[in-house]
Amino acid sequence: MRGKQTFGFALFALLVMPALSGCFGASDAVSDLFEKPGVPGGLTLACLDGSTYTKLVVEIDYETGYKPESSSTDMLVERLNQVCDKPNGVEIKFELTEFGHEGSWTAQDVRDKAWDSKAQDPRKSSTLTWQIIFPANTYEDDNVLGVAVDASTIAIFGDSVDDAAGFFSRPSAEEVENSVLVHEAGHLLGLVNLVYTSPADHEDSDNKGHSNNEESVMYWAIESRSVGSFISGDLPTEFDQDDLDDLTGLLSGDIESSNQLWRP
Ligand SMILES: [Zn+2]
Repeated sequence: MRGKQTFGFALFALLVMPALSGCFGASDAVSDLFEKPGVPGGLTLACLDGSTYTKLVVEIDYETGYKPESSSTDMLVERLNQVCDKPNGVEIKFELTEFGHEGSWTAQDVRDKAWDSKAQDPRKSSTLTWQIIFPANTYEDDNVLGVAVDASTIAIFGDSVDDAAGFFSRPSAEEVENSVLVHEAGHLLGLVNLVYTSPADHEDSDNKGHSNNEESVMYWAIESRSVGSFISGDLPTEFDQDDLDDLTGLLSGDIESSNQLWRP
């Protein structure tokens, strides 16, 4: 709780609540061009379980000037290794990519351009591949720092991440990026309640799909541009115990999962 201003959160909520709707773009407008892109969380079991998909590749497609900090991708690998059983490892592959997109992005733009640039299918032999694009320009709602748009695809908007840094760089743009990257990956893991219903009461009632615990990286405010203005202390970068318990329950089958593209 240190360094956090309770009154700030109340104001924060009023300011950014409408902005967060773009955060996990589960959509019924999924393109027919590709086989089962699924919903965010649709490859949760494929990640958690290590029997069939023994390796996870995270493809990072970035435009010139938008490559993420190595601290962000290192942290992402660490967090994914913590929860996904991947005996052959979690590997980052960087691809300098020009998306050829003008202006701001919609969730459908992210789907279209990301799938155009995927180096390989999300599931191929024993490798699961998730993709994170780092394009120029902002989301259509420029308060949104990142979106997870289907079972394997995320976009992070670097210009908005830079704008989200707090006064005197507390938090810094790098720290915001660290947290947003893990947060969006958490959505691909189905957090919170995207493809299941948690036995724990930790989904924020006003911000569906998010944690109500400000110590969790899945806290609802993490992906908003205003985050740096209201949290002057450390941003969360880790899944909390409820998040971890959900993932454990999903893998064991104690928690029923829906919309899975693959099951063990
Ligand atoms: Zn989110």
